[in-house]
Amino acid sequence: DVLVIGSNMIDLITYIDRMPIEGETVEAPDFQMGFGGKGANQAVAAARLGSKVSFITMVGNDTFGQQQLANFKENQIDTTGVGTGTKSSGAAPIFVEPSSDNRILIIKGANNELTPAVLDQHVDLIKNAKIIVLQQEIPLETNYHAIDLANQFNVPVLLNPAPANKDLDINHVSNVNFFSPNETELATLTGMPTTNLTEIKQAAQHMVQMGVNNMIITLGSKGVLWVNKDTSDLIPAVKVKAVDTTGAGDSFIGSFAHYFAQGEAIPTALKHANQYAAITVTRQGTQKSYPTAAELASLVK
Ligand code: ADP
Repeated sequence: DVLVIGSNMIDLITYIDRMPIEGETVEAPDFQMGFGGKGANQAVAAARLGSKVSFITMVGNDTFGQQQLANFKENQIDTTGVGTGTKSSGAAPIFVEPSSDNRILIIKGANNELTPAVLDQHVDLIKNAKIIVLQQEIPLETNYHAIDLANQFNVPVLLNPAPANKDLDINHVSNVNFFSPNETELATLTGMPTTNLTEIKQAAQHMVQMGVNNMIITLGSKGVLWVNKDTSDLIPAVKVKAVDTTGAGDSFIGSFAHYFAQGEAIPTALKHANQYAAITVTRQGTQKSYPTAAELASLVK
């Protein structure tokens, strides 16, 4: 049983020849809508692997909200924790240039209405989880409260501090079981350099000294670094030809939560999450690129 507490967004992916200047209207060649938001992506990855996943999130009272709900259900995610806010659904207009450079706007909308009080309505979900997965596209206070409740019921927490937020109070979150930034987020969190593996290890060890049980640092095509008080292990990525790495981090986090909830030891779960994320980078799209357990079995021999 995996419980994800976090965000959902509708990606509005607009393929442009160029950005219009002020006052100008230009035609763009293509458009695509996609289901996103870090919380939703992670929940979908774990659910496609076969975990029983619950998701505490807020959608808007609009058609995007209805579509999100339908997408959660289609992915067999338990939606008792999905609420409807008064703001619009979270949305991300993304502009992609022919060079594949992109510009992204994030409107958090109803995601900002996921307040600490909402969690108090779902204490049963928190109590019964094998792992609780958090990111940073909802108010920080809600994550703090989630960690306090999880500690009260002895449920392990994985905090993926993405996107990086300088306001995160490390003292408040330092006792989580798993802290999983990428190298850039680790630099923001610690204020330490992370330009090579030696520096990354030092920054991770600093977080372990602060009280984090396990640091899991994703390193893109290099794989993942696992650091705790006894360990400092690099688990290499699977070698693949990457075509689209959007949502790779979320597929890694969601699949790791699945494997951990299945009772796998940490190094085994990390190896399996590397395999899962590697497949997602060989395919276009975000949630679209996340394989089911059956597909995975046919792809990994
Ligand atoms: P984020 O998108 O959060 O920056 P990363 O780029 O670190 O996340 O990628 C997350 C995980 O996805 C990596 O730890 C690795 O397992 C996998 N991954 C990402 N890029 C590649 C790649 N080019 N080849 C193989 N695996 C990859």
